[in-house]
Amino acid sequence: MEKEPEKIIELVNVKKIYRMGNEKIYAVDDVSFDIKKGEFCCLLGTSGSGKSTLLNLMAGIEKATSGQIIIKGKDIPKMNENNLARFRQRYLGFVFQAYNLINSMTALENVEFPLVFKRIAPKKRKKLAKDMLAQVGLGSRLMHKPKEMSGGQQQRVGIARAFVAKPEIVFADEPTGNLDTKTTIEVMELIKRMARENQQTIVMVTHDRSLAAYADKVIHILDGKIQSIEITDRASSEDMQVRLKEVSKKLLLDRGGEQVSTET
Ligand code: ADP
Ligand code: MG
Repeated sequence: MEKEPEKIIELVNVKKIYRMGNEKIYAVDDVSFDIKKGEFCCLLGTSGSGKSTLLNLMAGIEKATSGQIIIKGKDIPKMNENNLARFRQRYLGFVFQAYNLINSMTALENVEFPLVFKRIAPKKRKKLAKDMLAQVGLGSRLMHKPKEMSGGQQQRVGIARAFVAKPEIVFADEPTGNLDTKTTIEVMELIKRMARENQQTIVMVTHDRSLAAYADKVIHILDGKIQSIEITDRASSEDMQVRLKEVSKKLLLDRGGEQVSTET
């Protein structure tokens, strides 16, 4: 039998409740799922459905009210700040909707930044950052500051920064939220290519249904709860059943209701 890919992220009955005066907001309401190593996972839902909260809980930026969040075998909510900071530097990368670049720094310095914490020598740091900027098509923009670049270019810098230290997991919160369609496709292709080259795991939050096409797994979120989990790739026997069902459903629609067998 084929070996199941390792579960790199596992959430068990996770809740995040915000208290606003007398009101309780169930931002994340009893959510359980797992993400396998190398998977491109999309958290899809409308604004206010709890996607960013969920991502922030996984990244240890916010503390869950209850439940377990296990990443690489470590229970994130139980880690202290120091260990969490080290864990983030070692294993996690981030891409943000608003790019979150440091405005006073050049593209090169922004991309070098995560390597400073990894205590990589300046010369090597510069080389790695330059190579990464070349890979995202910004080899001729090394000395540009964020304000001197377009949104798409800034997000390319953001991606170079997220991937430069080769983190095992990259979290992206609406990474194309501020970009036009053409640039969105370029940025999505870039994230997908980077992740594939280094077998990285991607967890991307979006409200844009069309971006789900890039994912292996789509987790639909509504009012803090999982509505459904769609698996679009990976051929474990269980996943295959889901895929076959989907394919047959599509075929049925295309053929106007004619019966299609899913027997193999
Ligand atoms: P999304 O990213 O899907 O748009 P969020 O995770 O930002 O949704 O928010 C989910 C819900 O939690 C919303 O109802 C939002 O108003 C609420 N919320 C988010 N952050 C806080 C906070 N710090 N305090 C109180 N309520 C919050
Ligand atoms: Mg959000």
